[in-house]
Amino acid sequence: MQFFSHFLKSSTKEENDVPAPSLNHFFDEMISHSDSPFILAIEDLKKLEETSSSTQEYLEYLLEDIIFTSLHLTFYEKLFIVLGQHSHLAIEMMDKFSEDIKEREFIIGQETFCHIQYIENHGICQGCKAHDNHQDVFALIEHYFNQDIDFFVQLYLGMQTIQYSFDKLLYDILPENESLLVGQSEQSILEYRKYIFNYVSRELK
Ligand SMILES: [Zn+2]
Repeated sequence: MQFFSHFLKSSTKEENDVPAPSLNHFFDEMISHSDSPFILAIEDLKKLEETSSSTQEYLEYLLEDIIFTSLHLTFYEKLFIVLGQHSHLAIEMMDKFSEDIKEREFIIGQETFCHIQYIENHGICQGCKAHDNHQDVFALIEHYFNQDIDFFVQLYLGMQTIQYSFDKLLYDILPENESLLVGQSEQSILEYRKYIFNYVSRELK
């Protein structure tokens, strides 16, 4: 899925010679529980659908949440990589990450708004705070005007499931597996995201 990978800028740093251990089995373990990230995402989707008074409104909610979550995930990815490099500072960094949530959400909210304006204007924008990153959402324009709900539902569930699994990884699994993130790179985290997204796609078939 192009849109999915576009949010990650390709790494310019050298990758480690030894590949980091795959995170995939943690996700396999998570989905065996009743609070599986995928089940939580489905519940969010139901709420979203219930609060929508029309297809158009549903579409707008989906679009907004997809972009917001995608942007939020990039912050997690950066944190994961830094935590892997400085695992002795993990607690301080996680505390800071939790403290900064309001500021982070404010920045992400602004950028989300810019992208939505861009999409609703059929890809026309004279300049905004997120201008350099509009290509990340360009592929959504056509689907948006076709009211391709299935497309957005899949993307929504993918993003929400990744978000929940990142939260579990960070707050539940990492404290008991301190070396979990050592050696993780943008590439290895992208692999993990793809693994989760593929799971969601299979579940929706
Ligand atoms: Zn712009």
